[in-house]
Amino acid sequence: MGELNRRNFLKTLGVVGATVSGIPAKKLLAQSKSELFEDRMGVLVDTTVCIGCRRCEWACKTAHDIPAGDLESYDDESVFEKMRRPANESYTVVNRYENLSNPKSPLNVKVQCMHCDHPACVSACIVGAFSKKESGAVVWDGSMCIGCRYCMVACPFQVPTFEYEKAIQPNINKCDFCIERTKGGLLPACVEICPVEAITYGKRRNLIETAEKRIELYPDRYINKIYGFTEVGGTSWMYLANREFNELDFPKLGDKPAPGVSESIQHGIFAYFVPPIALYALLGGIMWVSKNKDSKEEGK
Ligand code: SF4
Ligand code: SF4
Ligand code: SF4
Repeated sequence: MGELNRRNFLKTLGVVGATVSGIPAKKLLAQSKSELFEDRMGVLVDTTVCIGCRRCEWACKTAHDIPAGDLESYDDESVFEKMRRPANESYTVVNRYENLSNPKSPLNVKVQCMHCDHPACVSACIVGAFSKKESGAVVWDGSMCIGCRYCMVACPFQVPTFEYEKAIQPNINKCDFCIERTKGGLLPACVEICPVEAITYGKRRNLIETAEKRIELYPDRYINKIYGFTEVGGTSWMYLANREFNELDFPKLGDKPAPGVSESIQHGIFAYFVPPIALYALLGGIMWVSKNKDSKEEGK
């Protein structure tokens, strides 16, 4: 499903939801609100500093009990030949791009969940399996998940992945901001291992100051943009680069939070105790309209 279709899907969700539940859409939208902890944490990724050693990939797997192999095997640079996305067995990946101002020193971009301030995955999840914590982390609770995968459709960064190959209790997987480690006062595993401090963990507001200062001090080194500062209402993970972010495969997104309608639906369903039969009708309706729309668009 492409970007546009994903947006259409959420729009459809709004219309069908309001119709089936009998709650006026305006009232549903009024339910939408998010509270953020001022001291929430974040990470600043400086792509001009990252050397592409992929130690962060190894550390992330090790910290999450995913088979990681030898650290030395991550020196293999052939992985950069194709673009990779976070997957069930790798919550973070590093991709390589040409550095136009210095071809000898390519740009390396670490990718993982952005831990949005207004996460679309949280809003889309009708059973509340996703949540945004005070620390800034967006986490998933397997005991609540019903496997509907709306979170995957809703995420503007296409991050959550699903264990299709598992018949029993498949998980949704993504970076959890190392919530268990940070609760215990440790750094996220990827931040701790980075040999060149390309990734900095700290209070989000302090990281914004740091990023602004770097841009001001080294205008030749960076473009004047902190990706994640305002995108989709702000994200906990933010980036600096010396190339336009869309050239580094970052999606061009507006400043408004992505959740909007899906958040209203979730809140509407539970706030008004819509009976299960209506909920099933709602889900069936969403799938039917979405499928119809997709086949029409494919037939164009
Ligand atoms: S990047 Fe996607 S999965 Fe991560 S918090 Fe944002 S919406 Fe959720
Ligand atoms: S914060 Fe933790 S879970 Fe997220 S990419 Fe880094 S090591 Fe992996
Ligand atoms: S460990 Fe640091 S330098 Fe190495 S790839 Fe990851 S972010 Fe880049």
